[in-house]
Amino acid sequence: MSFRSRSLARFARPLALPLAAGAAALMLAGLLTAVHAADNPPQLTGFSPQDAASELAWEQKFDALPSPVRLRADMYHLSALPHNLGSERDHENAEWILHQFQSYGLDAHIEEFDVLFPTPISRSLELIAPEHYSAQLKEPPVAVDPDSTDPGQLPTYNAYSPDGDVTAQLVYVNYGLPSDYDELAKLGISVKGRIVIARYGMSWRGIKPKVAAEHGAVGCLIYSDPRDDGYFQGDIFPQGPFRPWQGVQRGSVMMMEVHPGDPTTPGYGSVPGAKHEKPDTLEKIPVLPISYGDALPLLRALAGPVAPENWRGALPITYHAGPGPAVVHLALKFDYKLTPTYDVIARIPGSTWPGQWVIRGNHHDGWVNGAEDPISGLDAELEEARAYGQLLKQGWRPKRTIIYCAWDGEEPGLLGSTEWAETHAAELEQHAVAYINSDTNDRGYLGVEGSHSLEHFFNDVAKSVTDPETGESVWERLRSHRIEEAKTAADKAKIENRPDLRIGALGSGSDYSTFLQHLGIASANLGYQGECNGGIYHSIYDDFYWYTHFCDGTYVYGRALSQTAGHAVMRLADADVLPFQFGDFADTIALYQRQLEELHKNTAGAPAFDFSPLSDAVSRLKAAAARYDQAFAADAGSGNLYSESAEQLGALDQLLLQSERKLMDAAGLPRRPWYKHQIYAPGFYTGYGVKTLPGMREAMEQKNWDEAEREQAIIVKALDAFTAQIQAAAAKL
Ligand SMILES: [Zn+2]
Repeated sequence: MSFRSRSLARFARPLALPLAAGAAALMLAGLLTAVHAADNPPQLTGFSPQDAASELAWEQKFDALPSPVRLRADMYHLSALPHNLGSERDHENAEWILHQFQSYGLDAHIEEFDVLFPTPISRSLELIAPEHYSAQLKEPPVAVDPDSTDPGQLPTYNAYSPDGDVTAQLVYVNYGLPSDYDELAKLGISVKGRIVIARYGMSWRGIKPKVAAEHGAVGCLIYSDPRDDGYFQGDIFPQGPFRPWQGVQRGSVMMMEVHPGDPTTPGYGSVPGAKHEKPDTLEKIPVLPISYGDALPLLRALAGPVAPENWRGALPITYHAGPGPAVVHLALKFDYKLTPTYDVIARIPGSTWPGQWVIRGNHHDGWVNGAEDPISGLDAELEEARAYGQLLKQGWRPKRTIIYCAWDGEEPGLLGSTEWAETHAAELEQHAVAYINSDTNDRGYLGVEGSHSLEHFFNDVAKSVTDPETGESVWERLRSHRIEEAKTAADKAKIENRPDLRIGALGSGSDYSTFLQHLGIASANLGYQGECNGGIYHSIYDDFYWYTHFCDGTYVYGRALSQTAGHAVMRLADADVLPFQFGDFADTIALYQRQLEELHKNTAGAPAFDFSPLSDAVSRLKAAAARYDQAFAADAGSGNLYSESAEQLGALDQLLLQSERKLMDAAGLPRRPWYKHQIYAPGFYTGYGVKTLPGMREAMEQKNWDEAEREQAIIVKALDAFTAQIQAAAAKL
């Protein structure tokens, strides 16, 4: 899924470099690295000087391998037909990916899980008063786009809606957030016994029916308003990239804020023969996504108060809140059945520390043809794997084991990755170094979110990749962009004065969730973004035609993603000591602590709250992080570190790779025990959006101060365990 807010058109700029010039710039950058390396010994965190030189030489060989021609050909093949979970093509694609991995010379296999996945049997939506309208619920083919006529397109629906047949007055609820219901209450409007219509945006879509049901609604429609996603943004498809009148955003409404994965096997793998329980993450009321073309007659038929100004979209009507006189009849029936998922797993054994695993993944299932989501990311991953195959033939041997994964069933609810990670949980807890994810890849600026003990590492990685448009490093480009975007001089100075660019924290929305938030494996999500405007997300128009006309049609950002993820995986796998650094992590936790104090200060009527347990823990963490980073730098600088035996270094690595696990609490977060990470979680009322220090932050947002105090103690315990772990690591230096 991985829905990113797209940049406004003013940030867009045309591809500055044609393909050949881009390749030349890359070669030049490679040459400069080589010249630089000859002059003074290269420095690479976690590598001895001679191993750093060798690593950079391998990376240079690697960089020449990912090929835009192949990226395009792989996308053409993998997006040629609809390939949603459960479709014939989904299975064929998995087999094809398996054969690709094998043809690269890698050891690969498919792992299969049975997951509960609903598909529609029947859907109908009618306006029955004050006039009649039958919703089309169908995206029409477009003459210039051959894939738009493909057979086997999954109808427009929200997966994990219950069956239902309801007739009721309609109420417009804006984005359907809890605050929107507060606004309705002020207008004297209740949704009890009524059907709500909410617009997409501002939250994970599954939050909208959940909050509607909490307020007593009996049905929920979600539509794409042209202001957010349609003609207000620019020309609509196929004249432009934006969502056309009958375009619909499919998508899951599973309660992923409770847990992702198969709803019938929470916390354990749905391997053949596993016990399937009653599903616990289905929505309570029927929910259906619709186009703005179908929403217009419904919204036009509403009366009642005029909607508040910031609720109004870009349809040619005066927006009213209702209720009624519009009355709608919504009838939905689904086929809920166990469906096989096919995860493709490839493995390159490590030469020195085979028991340390670097894991990389991207999903392969789409809602329909899914060229952008997910093939743009998957084909970059395939090119990385192909490049490793070539390097292995030339004599490269990663010190640690590399595992490449192509996940199935991500779109319905991170099914393939969650079931795989739950099945292998015990091994992963022991062996996993890090998980690196990608999903949709566009064009523009590097996006990195993830564990902050890898923040410094990803800054280094970003400095090693050349931007295809500007010829500078993707790090430099991102930094200038952030400085340009800074709202105040103080914000600008903060960016300029901090050696590392901050990386965002991970909420949910793609396959990293289980690795990070359930198992405590340091994780990151990578992708280029910001310059492909559009509105084809989860529609039949996300296909080869759209991607090649309106996004990364030259695939130079596909290649940049291969190089970025490839360098990250190679460095983690090849390093003499894992390049975890903790100063940025401590600095980030201190920032979160200040945010919570600010939140408390700005909450009217909040009682006094003692933050000293947290601030003391943060001080201890800062001291230990500084001690580790300094000891590491001194020991690495003197060369002492790298003269240690493989066994001693392996023991240090074991402490480092386990550090993220210390941030877990076995009992999990309040009301959602599956989420065990105490620093990062998707919001209980925002879904995708991350909540940091979630136990405490969400309790404070709900003004539950007793719970906030209890959660503070749990966070302090986790931070202290983390601090003890890095002290133990520092003691080995
Ligand atoms: Zn995706």
